[in-house]
Amino acid sequence: MKLNERGLLVVLSGPSGVGKGTVRKALFEMEGHDLVYSISMTTRPPREGEVDGEDYYFVSKEEFERRIREEMFIEYAEFVGHYYGTPKDKVDEQLKLGKEVVLEIEVQGALQVRKKAKDAVFVFIAPPNKEALYRRLLRRGTEDPETIQKRMEKAEREFPLAHKYDYIVVNDEVTNAADRILAIIRAEHAKTERSIYKYNQMLEVK
Ligand code: 5GP
Repeated sequence: MKLNERGLLVVLSGPSGVGKGTVRKALFEMEGHDLVYSISMTTRPPREGEVDGEDYYFVSKEEFERRIREEMFIEYAEFVGHYYGTPKDKVDEQLKLGKEVVLEIEVQGALQVRKKAKDAVFVFIAPPNKEALYRRLLRRGTEDPETIQKRMEKAEREFPLAHKYDYIVVNDEVTNAADRILAIIRAEHAKTERSIYKYNQMLEVK
């Protein structure tokens, strides 16, 4: 299969609290795209209002570890005491159909995908400044102070990893950030290495 016949894998990542989830949701609410979101699996208990099979697939630690052994994840990471992972089968299926598949994952997982999927696009979502990140973690109100502190320290260690990504998008304002991501996805499609095969066919270039 040629590179451009397969769908595009888009990895949105960045430290916890930058608003990845909110930006991703805003992106999916925008018109004019046909993106598919890859629902992750986790051992974290559901937060209020979260729905199994929509926000995450919520499973036990035993179930998750069985799936690790059976190599059912593209990537997985342990994040503040819980497992999170991207199920392989659904993503592969959608990519084979030529769909654009979006992962929204933390940094360690994104770096695992980077090693495996050379043709994926990696977007680092950054906070406008450290205070904004801290405020967002506090405001979410779903974690105890110790967890918030752990997430903040982890974020500090992750800031320098942005250089491993293809793009950096600052989440200064959610719709702006989502707009920029959509523009990136569109530009990626027009990249010569992705479009040359179709182009050559279209104009019968030998
Ligand atoms: P939360 O508990 O706030 O929903 O998620 C914690 C972190 O895990 C967030 O940074 C989120 O993006 C990340 N995450 C969600 N799903 C996955 C996944 O499948 N793999 C990895 N590596 N991280 C994930």
